[in-house]
Amino acid sequence: MSDYSAKDRFYMQIALDIAQKGADVKEVPVGAVIVNIKNDTIVAATHNLTIQKCNRNAHAEMIAISKASDSINMGFLDHHAIYVTLEPCAMCAKALSLSRVRSIYYAADDAKGGAIKNGVRIFDDASTNHKPLIYSGLFAEESSILLKNFFNTLRKK
Ligand SMILES: [Zn+2]
Repeated sequence: MSDYSAKDRFYMQIALDIAQKGADVKEVPVGAVIVNIKNDTIVAATHNLTIQKCNRNAHAEMIAISKASDSINMGFLDHHAIYVTLEPCAMCAKALSLSRVRSIYYAADDAKGGAIKNGVRIFDDASTNHKPLIYSGLFAEESSILLKNFFNTLRKK
């Protein structure tokens, strides 16, 4: 995966670090970072909050979109990229499309819950008007290990 820039690695590393923080508070370790690519500024960075918010929809991407959109006119993220440690699910992929995010970088594939390369493949569907640029695989192994360790620990308890 040598075609990723130093910036891409930097932002995905932050997403991974945040995912780890999520694991520390018993959230499924998925981290998301949204970057304004015009001025290289992080506008949102979060992990899943499904347990803390008691909301099964509080995926990292949904919270990050909400945070990022607050500061932007009309809420469109067309000058933004999201770095997320796991392939987005159908809900998050659709939300990213509706927000018109410019590009999605995701680390690990999610054969069960993913909806970009796997499952319903939201962006291949004719009903999806905005199709972001997709880059997958950056730090995939690191993200997979984080998730595996998390679920292994849960099973032992
Ligand atoms: Zn999701």
